[in-house]
Amino acid sequence: MMAGEPILELKAVERYYVQGSKRLTILNGAEFSLKRGEMVALVAPSGTGKSTMLHAAGLLERPNGGDVFVNNRACGRLSDDARTAIRRNEIGFVYQFHHLLPEFSAIENIMMPQIIRGLSRTEARERAAQLLDYMKIGKRAEHRPAELSGGEQQRVAIARAVANAPLILLADEPTGNLDPGTATYVYEALEALVRQSGLSALFATHNHELARRMDRQVTLADGKVVPLG
Ligand code: ADP
Ligand code: MG
Repeated sequence: MMAGEPILELKAVERYYVQGSKRLTILNGAEFSLKRGEMVALVAPSGTGKSTMLHAAGLLERPNGGDVFVNNRACGRLSDDARTAIRRNEIGFVYQFHHLLPEFSAIENIMMPQIIRGLSRTEARERAAQLLDYMKIGKRAEHRPAELSGGEQQRVAIARAVANAPLILLADEPTGNLDPGTATYVYEALEALVRQSGLSALFATHNHELARRMDRQVTLADGKVVPLG
């Protein structure tokens, strides 16, 4: 695979919600292409459809029209099992709220997706420990999420999202709950991870300062993805 090749594409994606007799159209022929190694900011006001777009891109929801291509593979008509396999192996997702499992330690949370994928506990633990070190929270390995600060929780969530070495990282306002200093620190950890691993990332944020540091900025207008500014 070459740099600059599209790794994630939305083609003519339609997404609407039905409420009673009304149809609320969120994505209306949305076109988007994320290239290998690229980091793109998705900046748009609340309620415009950032999460809807990320959920479609991450194969969490099926579009009502158009298709999503992951590494050149059309995913719309694949079975749920095939979509789950692609999601598990090729896509990492980070949410605004960490969604870590509260009963498990930081390192166990990062081991989990690897074990589900079939790695041994020893292999999973080794990679999880490396990722914790990389995110500069190695000393927090045995702590449960409730014992971690917001910034630490998000760094664990990021490590978990990349535990299976995905091609694509989708981040839905992952720093939205953090104070500005912590947001920058968490962003820098994520950015370093993306840059050193050749990952591609689509990162929804309201933080214009962080958005400017990415390769490209897009927004949503009338259900379409357009360049910001
Ligand atoms: P953002 O992430 O940019 O804040 P969302 O993608 O969450 O926006 O939501 C876009 C719009 O779609 C909002 O008006 C929201 O209320 C609506 N919406 C989101 N999910 C649903 C749903 N499951 N059913 C009905 N409406 C929804
Ligand atoms: Mg959202």
